[in-house]
Amino acid sequence: MKTTERSTARRPRAGEVRLEGQPVSSGVAIGHAAIAHDPEPPPIDTTRRDCDPAHERARLHEAITRSTAQLRRLHDRLALLPEDGQVEIGSLLEVYRRMLGPSRLRRGIEARLGHGMLAEAAVQLETEALAAFMLSPPGRPAPEGEDAVAARRRAGEFREIGRRLVRNLSGTPYRSFSAIPDGAILVAEQLRPADAALIDPSRIAAVVTEEGGSTGHTAILLRALGIPAVLATHGLLARIGRRTRLVVDGTTGQVILRPSTRTAAAARVAVAAYARERQALGRLRRLPARLSSGEVLTLQANLEIPAELPMIAQSGAAGIGLLRSEFLFMNAGTLPDEARQEALYRPLIEAMSGDPVTIRVVDWGSEKNSDALAQAGIGAGSDVNPALGVRGIRLLLRHRALLETQFAAILRAATAGPVRVLLPMVSSPAELHAAREVYARVGRRLRRKGVDIPDPLPPLGIMIETPAAALMADVLAQEAEFLAIGTNDLTMYTLAADRAATDVAGLYDPLHPAVLRLVRLAADAGLRQRRPVSLCGEMASDPLAVPLMVGLGVRSFSMHASAVPHVKRAVRAAAMDDCRRMACRALEAADGPEVSAMLMAYAATLRHAGDG
Ligand code: PEP
Ligand code: MG
Repeated sequence: MKTTERSTARRPRAGEVRLEGQPVSSGVAIGHAAIAHDPEPPPIDTTRRDCDPAHERARLHEAITRSTAQLRRLHDRLALLPEDGQVEIGSLLEVYRRMLGPSRLRRGIEARLGHGMLAEAAVQLETEALAAFMLSPPGRPAPEGEDAVAARRRAGEFREIGRRLVRNLSGTPYRSFSAIPDGAILVAEQLRPADAALIDPSRIAAVVTEEGGSTGHTAILLRALGIPAVLATHGLLARIGRRTRLVVDGTTGQVILRPSTRTAAAARVAVAAYARERQALGRLRRLPARLSSGEVLTLQANLEIPAELPMIAQSGAAGIGLLRSEFLFMNAGTLPDEARQEALYRPLIEAMSGDPVTIRVVDWGSEKNSDALAQAGIGAGSDVNPALGVRGIRLLLRHRALLETQFAAILRAATAGPVRVLLPMVSSPAELHAAREVYARVGRRLRRKGVDIPDPLPPLGIMIETPAAALMADVLAQEAEFLAIGTNDLTMYTLAADRAATDVAGLYDPLHPAVLRLVRLAADAGLRQRRPVSLCGEMASDPLAVPLMVGLGVRSFSMHASAVPHVKRAVRAAAMDDCRRMACRALEAADGPEVSAMLMAYAATLRHAGDG
């Protein structure tokens, strides 16, 4: 189907009209509407019972093959999307793919075909029945709150895959956005996630829809694409005409049709301010992470899944400071062997073109799970409190073959570029010592076999994630070649507040002076032993907290790729003396909120000083 600007017989009313929708992706845009609508598939006769089941089954299978190929093409586009979008649309496509496989939906459709139904009718009736079942399960109360949101989303997924099958059965094409003029605002009754994945954010100024909501896949995807968007703008299509000019504010949810001269001028100012903000962040990519007082820091990115790589490359990160290798074991039926692991590490290292990659060996246990490890009989088992049980290095030292395989794979891949190897959840020097012996033994074995590995072996370092490790950092730093402070777990263990539990979320505060004192100890130990110290917990993504961490002695940070420009801006505005002064005061503060107020006051004095 072709995207057109709707030419409508209805004469739009003159004058400015303000509508409210749900703001789902921030930013302001002004432009002309391009109304996208799908060509309707022909009406479906749901009453027929005289069709040839074999023929209809063959048509259904062809439609499934075509739908699967379309989903695969969408999947191939994933690498072009920003990080969040890749994760969001990737898991959604997986849901669709499973529905097209040997699913309950497929069985239901095929059963209806057995009664002589037309394939289109069988698909429509079955997907509607499943959607209705999700929304109000018979014999059970209708879902409420979060459950209702999930039920609506699931019902939407059934309807969407049904629509796709019907389109392919009837040969009705999909909408395409290629005909939309550059800079137009895409207006639609509704936008499906698969449609949103096709939008080129460099061409579409904003998106407004009549239906939809902020929690759906489409909203998440639009945010990930960085397109200003307002959904659920009731009354939109009835009021909009061909090439209607409109202002969209994705922060407030306001949609203004036919803006007055004054409104349009104000909107242009807002658009320019927003563009300046994005440009400033973009420019920062090439600038060094240098404090206003001259000291240079290292800002790197955390990687959780390989799909994040393009985002890391764009972010201006100077390497990967924490590669969480858990992804190798997640959703895997079997343990990845040495060759498979090497094949995954090597391209990641090569992609960083000489920037260092710190690979953390698998940190399983606590809230992290892996089917592959569980199936191999490797697990935290019956621990009463898994966070305090067999996790991280404890688990690896009990299952040395797992550790040896991972070390060997990393060493093999390490010829592709600079690599460091990181041990999780260390709480005593004995653990580090034992792991180092395994590391050296694996290195010797590979050399004996004639395998090309770096000489000397890549640096072996430890996470500082437990109060014990922070308190013993000076001893640990004698054997660890670098320290990486993991404030996520360090906060949890220091404050005895589970990082994932909502009922103690108010107690879990990485700015608590107790945590800061431990960070200080670790940073000091690194400095004294001349060991590099980095910080790779969520705190490293917080532009307010990073100057404080600098004051505590940390010079290297690893964070979500999307946070790199924001943190860099904060760093470039800050001066070392101020950072140190703040650190002294924070270490003496009574609690986290006091520290937080101090950081906000400091940031307010610097706003945007780091752009240039
Ligand atoms: C941490 O604990 O701060 C950390 C970086 O490790 P993870 O979040 O993977 O536990
Ligand atoms: Mg951790």
